[in-house]
Amino acid sequence: MGNNLPCPVCDEACSLFDVVDFNKSCEEAKGKFLTLAGIPVYYALCSDCGFCFAPEIAAWTLKEFEEKIYNDEYILVDPDYVEVRPRANAKNLISMFGNNAHSIKGTSNN
Ligand SMILES: [Zn+2]
Repeated sequence: MGNNLPCPVCDEACSLFDVVDFNKSCEEAKGKFLTLAGIPVYYALCSDCGFCFAPEIAAWTLKEFEEKIYNDEYILVDPDYVEVRPRANAKNLISMFGNNAHSIKGTSNN
């Protein structure tokens, strides 16, 4: 992986920014950490528009996301995705759009 990655947003050259282990968990804020996977995930940052992304993961197919992240064990690292976060997001939308919030329609692949 080089240092001349094109930015997916503005096409300017990006530099590597940081690296983390693949085993990240949403539960780290609550003190629950996974053991290291030993798989580095590099992040790149566009100095022009500020977009930050993981080039290797950004190239994955939906099938790869399903297999490697959003699999049967995903709930273990992000239990809030089932109920807590959707409720918080709904509350935010209602506070932003008031009475119009219930007329907003979205799309879903579920
Ligand atoms: Zn950019």
